[in-house]
Amino acid sequence: MEGRSKACPLSSVYVSGLLAAQKRMERYREAAAPSHLRGSFLSFRFSEKDDKRKTGQKRPRMHLFELTRALVDIESTTNHEKNVTDYLFARLSELAGKSNGQIQRISAEPGRDNLFASWGEPVVTLSTHMDTVPPYFASGEDEQFIFGRGACDAKGIIAAMVTATERLLAAGTRNFGLLLVVGEERNSAGAKAAAASPRGARFLINGEPTENQLALGSKGALRYEITAKGRLAHSAYPELGHSAIHTLLDVLEEIRGIALPEDPLLGRSTLNIGTISGGRAPNVVADQAEAEVMFRTVGDPSALRQAVASAVAGRAEASEVLYTPAIRLNKLDGLPTTVVAFTTDIPTFRGAWGEPFLIGPGSIHVAHTAEERVAKKELCDAVEIYTRMTTQLLTTGRSAA
Ligand SMILES: [Zn+2]
Repeated sequence: MEGRSKACPLSSVYVSGLLAAQKRMERYREAAAPSHLRGSFLSFRFSEKDDKRKTGQKRPRMHLFELTRALVDIESTTNHEKNVTDYLFARLSELAGKSNGQIQRISAEPGRDNLFASWGEPVVTLSTHMDTVPPYFASGEDEQFIFGRGACDAKGIIAAMVTATERLLAAGTRNFGLLLVVGEERNSAGAKAAAASPRGARFLINGEPTENQLALGSKGALRYEITAKGRLAHSAYPELGHSAIHTLLDVLEEIRGIALPEDPLLGRSTLNIGTISGGRAPNVVADQAEAEVMFRTVGDPSALRQAVASAVAGRAEASEVLYTPAIRLNKLDGLPTTVVAFTTDIPTFRGAWGEPFLIGPGSIHVAHTAEERVAKKELCDAVEIYTRMTTQLLTTGRSAA
């Protein structure tokens, strides 16, 4: 492990905690070691001077990067979160036991639990998700990055939040919590269960990969299945049948022509025809055809809904299978801001865990890909950011927006 990663800069509180622990260890080793070995460990000792002088080649620093890798290495695609939940339950139970905290499982579905750890009366809650998209692949790392499924979405974020929690506790901070949910990547089952079981928190810091910038808004999603029906016929005599595919193509052409609303903050809505299927054979007039269509919305979706309804009217059927509203979020002093196009658990929480903020290390452009990774520097920065935001929200009791 030594030398395989550059350590994070450590806060002074954290450093003094490490120094105290190290002094205890030194006393113990001095007493216990055979005389010819006494003092030999000193060449590996961590000192505050080292911390300031070097980038930290000889320091205890397992926490953040190792925890990220350990979490990545426990497969937890949606619906299979149990192993990672059990691992985090054990780890957070130990932390809560040492620091007068509490930990609870909040059942989302049979065999699928959220975790909620808290210290005092939670005013601020750090939260992200434990599930990942498939396919699973194990962790790796180089000087700059940690790789693997979930590295940035969202296991690196969990590791950063756990580390921030440890720092806050070391500094004597109370009245905050850590909420880890299942199911974000599919239907937000965990966030739904959490929303039904609030704990009185006033602020929710939700972690998703935003490259450590505070998201001021995220686009919504509106998804349809479009189905066209036809009548089978020999393709040499198309006038005897009715092609569902031709109809579907006409309908989709009209849908592509829908004027997409624009918003000053979130930009323009977008449209993707994600799947298309239908027909029997080249020489058969198709009796059925389907397509799946998704809009990323930026505001009230009623104009889009009307336009889709009129595009299909009398020709096909459009069934709305998902709607997640666009959201706007507040600023907080001192943090750079961005706008994101992806959707999150935040709308599903429906404010039950307080005013939401959205920020996390890593880039959404590599999330869900075979190159998923997170920069070690961003992980370190995220620990600082989560620690500072929690302290700031606890101190001021309100956001700066
Ligand atoms: Zn995510």
